[in-house]
Amino acid sequence: MNQSVSQRMQELEELLNRYNKEYYENDEPSVPDAEYDRLFHELKALETEHPDLRNASSPTMKVGGKPLGQFKTVQHEVPMLSLDNAFSVEEFEAFSKRVEQRLDTNQTVTFCCEPKLDGAAVSLLYENGLLVRGATRGDGQSGEDITENVKTIRNVPLKLSGDVPERLEVRGEVVMPLGAFERFNEQARLRDEKVFANPRNAAAGSLRQLDSKITAKRPLHFYAYSLGVISETTQLPDSHYMRLQQLKDWGLPVNIEIKTVESVQGCDDYYESILARRDSLNYDIDGVVFKVDSVRLQQDLGFVARAPRWAIARKFPAQEQLTTITGVDFQVGRTGAITPVARLEPVNVGGVTVSNATLHNADEIERLGVRIGDCVSIRRAGDVIPQVVSVVKDKRPEKTEAIEFPLHCPICQSDIERVEGEAVARCTGGLYCAAQRKEAIKHFASRKAMDIDGLGDKIVEQLVERDWIKSPADLYRLSKAELATLPRMGSKSAENLRNAIKATQETTLARFIYSLGIREVGEATANALANHFKNLDALVAANSEQLQEVPDVGAVVAHHIVSFFQESHNQQVVAELREFISWPEGEDASSVQSDRLTGNTYVITGTLSTMTRDEAKSALEALGAKVASSVSKKTTALVAGENAGSKLTKAQSLGLSILDEEALHELLKD
Ligand SMILES: [Zn+2]
Repeated sequence: MNQSVSQRMQELEELLNRYNKEYYENDEPSVPDAEYDRLFHELKALETEHPDLRNASSPTMKVGGKPLGQFKTVQHEVPMLSLDNAFSVEEFEAFSKRVEQRLDTNQTVTFCCEPKLDGAAVSLLYENGLLVRGATRGDGQSGEDITENVKTIRNVPLKLSGDVPERLEVRGEVVMPLGAFERFNEQARLRDEKVFANPRNAAAGSLRQLDSKITAKRPLHFYAYSLGVISETTQLPDSHYMRLQQLKDWGLPVNIEIKTVESVQGCDDYYESILARRDSLNYDIDGVVFKVDSVRLQQDLGFVARAPRWAIARKFPAQEQLTTITGVDFQVGRTGAITPVARLEPVNVGGVTVSNATLHNADEIERLGVRIGDCVSIRRAGDVIPQVVSVVKDKRPEKTEAIEFPLHCPICQSDIERVEGEAVARCTGGLYCAAQRKEAIKHFASRKAMDIDGLGDKIVEQLVERDWIKSPADLYRLSKAELATLPRMGSKSAENLRNAIKATQETTLARFIYSLGIREVGEATANALANHFKNLDALVAANSEQLQEVPDVGAVVAHHIVSFFQESHNQQVVAELREFISWPEGEDASSVQSDRLTGNTYVITGTLSTMTRDEAKSALEALGAKVASSVSKKTTALVAGENAGSKLTKAQSLGLSILDEEALHELLKD
């Protein structure tokens, strides 16, 4: 029996070592964390049961991978250890009980609670307030010298302000914000470059570039969460939380969600509240960390081999899981884009059952090398649709089937076209295609467009399936009697819907432009177009150069607008809509604004690469924001471009949020 146990342990060690290497050294994991954790737990349990069989070099004994040869090695003066995990409230309660017993106290313990950011851990060393070294965690004892790379991270201060200790080592996490990550991968897919499996790998991979110019182009963000080495003479508060506030005063970014609570109940409430908001955060987290807040008590508690006794990470449900692809559907979007969607054996990912995941496009299918029947890793994070991130080729069954990309639209049989140099294939059917028509009308009726109350997706689908609606203008021709014949539609609700449709006949130019669903013309761009052109005819007549005078309109968007208004069936749709819909034109149109950012004040500094500061200003103002010239406590956020100077330092010292150009686009896009 021991024979098979030791065999299994060896097998687990080999697997874990391989996954470790993929994860830490190549930034390219082939299995999700949850699978790694399962195997790790299995090995740990076997080792506890059979301590005599434990290998001294077992992966349970170390934290990460060895540094690659290319970077200089940095010895951590104080080891960067990892944390123990709790996967349930019971495991957390057991931890808390151990803490109380060890401290031999009946008093309530105060915990500092932090979201557990899923990025790359780094150490920053400041001497006399100047950043002199940045290092990766590596195996916890020694890491890689990535000084040049961390210097490129926007919110890492190169110089601290105030009464700073002579030597100060700050530790924290480098993350790639979710929106920036999605855009980065989207671009990489278009250019056929390396696509990262998740934001953590993107952050780690970006930090480990030998050329810091590449790192500088990656939208990375740093959050400090602890101190390492610190000159002995320095007096610091006993509370870990207060020490983080001190770091903030010196100019280091500290996550805003960090707070202290009393007792197990407080920790549990914190866990629930962060879990509930997980999908709305702009960065990946895989749990929350609880630390005994008193540093004196931390010292009393000490360490065990791998981890401190005074802290624990309570994990959230994993955002990546393995499952099997049972088939592929091809969906047709509003602009005709054909998206291959993998049908899956249902699997719980991050607390939600997932049975479909996007495969993006034909190139992506090829890149992944995925086949029907394959075991794949699925990722679901934030409000982004679940996606297939990798194929576990080791687990490929004998019989798999190639994925055939269709040549004709599965809905209307029109030809599918793929424009040279574009990753996306499109149905050429336009509004003839029922799938495109449904999506176009859903968009037309949506909240930020014409905002037709009560015209839900189900009703739109029924209207299109009955062929009552060939273009959005037909909505205004529907009678109450017709509507009342739809399933589950009483005469009262038919009347309400009819009135709701009628009510949108008076609208604004900005809403009208947005409702047309022109490719890449979002709410902010529609506003900017309305403000600039003041009336529809001027917009329709504008050429590409004239369009590019509008803030946030580049060559690509201008091209989409020109082609939209050149299409004869679009001209017809617009003409028909104008029979029913009107809006104030001329100067009045410029007051057409969204109030999405009303009450927020921004300051813009530094050089932006995709727009001028004036353009950024009017784009923000078009959404109701104020743009001020100096930073104060009332500032909502600082927009910092290249070479930002004193305003950035001031904003950091006030603890304001800093938006880089990526984040600004994200804000304007919504
Ligand atoms: Zn079609």
